[in-house]
Amino acid sequence: MKIAVLPGSFDPITTGHIDIVRRAKPLFDKIVVAVGVNSQKKYLFSLEKRLEWINEVFKDDDQVEAGFFEGLTVNYCKNIEARFLIRGLRNASDFDYEKTISQLNHIIGDDLETMFFISQPEYSHISSTIVREIIKGNGDVSAFVPDFIAKEITNNNY
Ligand code: ADP
Repeated sequence: MKIAVLPGSFDPITTGHIDIVRRAKPLFDKIVVAVGVNSQKKYLFSLEKRLEWINEVFKDDDQVEAGFFEGLTVNYCKNIEARFLIRGLRNASDFDYEKTISQLNHIIGDDLETMFFISQPEYSHISSTIVREIIKGNGDVSAFVPDFIAKEITNNNY
């Protein structure tokens, strides 16, 4: 079974992430959208909330599931027998960063392969960081996240 992991913070999941999953689906049997937990990092949304949103987005799709891990991505991949990582590339700075990480993961992850998807132009400006800034400024994020998430954010005054 071909299992791939899309690792990230997903704080929160955006339409950019969702499009990458949609495009990767024909290549794999299972895709795990995995929230990496870094105890040093401050998040806007709790791990539970981020997982709940991922589960809700893919609830009708048996091929996609949510997961989470602490520590090295390669260890998580080994544990769940995933041989592939999925990453999205929005611009040159994503590329520079991802190139190094992918080369390292290939070495320490026993030939773990990273598959890159160049983001579609309509999503390349979307990042969780920007979405969080808009939320903090009480702006409207409905163009960047699924409707139900935008509504929940507005209703709960995050
Ligand atoms: P990180 O915390 O490492 O930035 P994210 O949770 O933001 O991780 O994103 C996870 C993955 O999704 C990364 O590979 C990132 O490049 C990709 N990604 C995020 N936003 C987009 C987008 N708008 N289009 C394509 N890929 C994206």
